[in-house]
Amino acid sequence: MVRTNGQVAGPYRRIGRGSPLKGAGDCIFCQIVSKTAPSNIVYEDEKYVAFLDTFPFSRGHTLVCPKEHGETIWDMKETDVAGLFRVASKVSRAVVSAAGADGFRFVQNNGEAANQVVAHVHVHVIPVKMEDKGRFGDRKRLSKPEMDETAKIIRAKMGQA
Ligand SMILES: [Zn+2]
Repeated sequence: MVRTNGQVAGPYRRIGRGSPLKGAGDCIFCQIVSKTAPSNIVYEDEKYVAFLDTFPFSRGHTLVCPKEHGETIWDMKETDVAGLFRVASKVSRAVVSAAGADGFRFVQNNGEAANQVVAHVHVHVIPVKMEDKGRFGDRKRLSKPEMDETAKIIRAKMGQA
């Protein structure tokens, strides 16, 4: 399906109606979890992984996701949802500190209508500086050294150096 903005997308997805994306082969986040796709991982435990967003809204913008594939929050056990936000909370402290930010956003989109781009549950942790208050801005492209350095600092603050 070709969208009016020129992007080519798969079949339209509605929350709770199943996903055209099935399993690790199609899912970029499953590939990050299995380390068959490159990423800047900043935290990892048995059930969750956190890595830098490739096109961050700000330096340090991190995604936290469950290792087990599920499209939205509705596909997760409630105890795992709690665990996901527990990790996101822990990650937010390291991200804010690494970015020298004054606050942060959790953004968690479910369904294409809500701007969910990758059909694997994730929480955005977006550090915000006071001078950017009230602005969302555009996604950025940081250089590989900038991304590597940012990830290294966050990893160290997460005790995962
Ligand atoms: Zn996945």
